[in-house]
Amino acid sequence: MNQNSLQKKLSKLNIGNLRYFDSIGSTNDEALAWAATGARDLSIVIADEQTQGRGRLDRKWFTPKGSGLAFSLILRPHANLRPHLSRTVGLAALSIAESCSGLGLAPRIKWPNDILLNGKKTAGILIETVWSGDDVDSLVIGMGINVHKASVPPAEVLQFPATSLEDALGKEAPAREDVLFSVLDAFIHWRERMATDALIHAWEEIIAFRGEQVQVQAGGEENITGELLGLESDGSLRLRDAHDKSVIIRFGDVSLRPSA
Ligand code: ADP
Repeated sequence: MNQNSLQKKLSKLNIGNLRYFDSIGSTNDEALAWAATGARDLSIVIADEQTQGRGRLDRKWFTPKGSGLAFSLILRPHANLRPHLSRTVGLAALSIAESCSGLGLAPRIKWPNDILLNGKKTAGILIETVWSGDDVDSLVIGMGINVHKASVPPAEVLQFPATSLEDALGKEAPAREDVLFSVLDAFIHWRERMATDALIHAWEEIIAFRGEQVQVQAGGEENITGELLGLESDGSLRLRDAHDKSVIIRFGDVSLRPSA
């Protein structure tokens, strides 16, 4: 993987500019700085190795050299998409999921930001915002995808089991460039449909634990337990609690687990 091979691979897609790094702290940090200095829509920062990759809060995302995909996509939302920005995480998750489906796998989206294969985490998403006063100037969508076995961190550093495309396929995974191409292709397709019900339906269709009892930990608040019913039109999660009451979980620092 290098600047030229990536540019060639992605030339058929209508992306912005691309910056490749052999090694980087965090692709999101580089993309945030680039976005703030005027990067074009759909510009990409990608690295072979990420040494300070971030999850939400202070959590870390591991991308050892040569093993996975770590990239950040810069979005400059058009005015017509601004009312739908809360759907961005679904757009990103759906794109990764479709790329997995294209390989014959059966992905599920652990709301809000993880993609599971066989119940194990294969990819994560971290969205950060560049503000211009009270308006969103741009969004940076970081995606980490475990492609080869070596991208899966040791179990002792994980709070949730992890896997890779290679593990899930049970055979050699496709080249990382090919996985990147299919994720971006799906992303561009779904972004054009971001304002439609079809996006919410496609996203909801593959939500993990649907119809099952889950436990949601939101910020410092008490855990909420209930049956996972589906999504609201803004992408929020809908549960039914023990008193048969509908509970809407909005985004934020939310961790979802199957309930014991
Ligand atoms: P959560 O699991 O609560 O949704 P995040 O989405 O913020 O957490 O992701 C960060 C967490 O993901 C880390 O705390 C770590 O346990 C786990 N993790 C880090 N790197 C990887 C990886 N390459 N594959 C799978 N899980 C990872």
